[in-house]
Amino acid sequence: MLEQSRRVAVFSGAGLSAESGVATFRDPGPDALWSRFDPTELASPEGFAADPERVVAWYNWRRGRLAAVQPNPAHRALAAQTRLIQITQNVDSLLEQAGASADRVYHLHGSIMRDRCHNAACDHVETVDLRNPPPLRPCPRCGAYLRPAVVWFGEALPQDVWRQAESLCRQLDCLLVVGTSATVYPAAGLIEIARAAGSRVVVVDPNPGVAGGQADLALAGAAGDVLPALLEGLDLDSGS
Ligand SMILES: [Zn+2]
Repeated sequence: MLEQSRRVAVFSGAGLSAESGVATFRDPGPDALWSRFDPTELASPEGFAADPERVVAWYNWRRGRLAAVQPNPAHRALAAQTRLIQITQNVDSLLEQAGASADRVYHLHGSIMRDRCHNAACDHVETVDLRNPPPLRPCPRCGAYLRPAVVWFGEALPQDVWRQAESLCRQLDCLLVVGTSATVYPAAGLIEIARAAGSRVVVVDPNPGVAGGQADLALAGAAGDVLPALLEGLDLDSGS
């Protein structure tokens, strides 16, 4: 199916990075300090308004954990397909660390590697050192708080990235869906958009679930096991 496809793209989610040891969003991990919070208290504009220092402390804790994590064989197998565009819901940079070109990774939910100004009218952005992330601080340009450059509950996706992803999914022969439960909209709608435009859908996930129900082919297995074998010898292209 992949060999016969002229235009292929990847759509990945938390399962891809979970195999590297990155806690999934709905599983804050064993740390008792954070597991007592609901994710919406830590990842929403309301939570940030209520206690911005707590929100930044949580993200900095996650950044510290990410600093200790390496790309897994699935990241490397995907990154080795250098002409492929990777649409991802993950806010980490493990695909880029595995060698994917930054301009071919579309981060639908933003990036934890950067802070941006919380003032929507200001476009100030700063790169963050994961090993030494800065505490809550004001924007040097406008004085509003800086915050992680990720999409929170109740916030819209970055429109430029979304439009690029949507446009690409309308032109595919095959969409390779990796490690996503396909339940978080609007991102999960990309699978429906691709299918409606005539693309085939291949799902790689230990529990294909909802995404598997929309698939022409569901490969039940860990991405780190399946993808290196699946992609070996292929030279896939997103055609753009
Ligand atoms: Zn600002």
